[in-house]
Amino acid sequence: MKIVVDREKCIGAASCIGVASNVFELDEENKVVVIDQYGADDETILRAAQSCPVKAISLEDEDTGEVIFPD
Ligand code: SF4
Repeated sequence: MKIVVDREKCIGAASCIGVASNVFELDEENKVVVIDQYGADDETILRAAQSCPVKAISLEDEDTGEVIFPD
């Protein structure tokens, strides 16, 4: 699963980090960065994406490019 983050949208709410702290981190600008794409299982990463209040996290199928979230 490919994780795409939209840093323009991110408001630093950190809910994604609360769900998947091994995958997401806030940088010095208080914007999300992906630190380890494989730091959690797909289900956890999906929950993290769903938890974002501004939908700054999108997920794509790595092989087909199909958008998994938001659906
Ligand atoms: S939950 Fe959304 S807004 Fe909050 S840090 Fe993560 S990506 Fe940014």
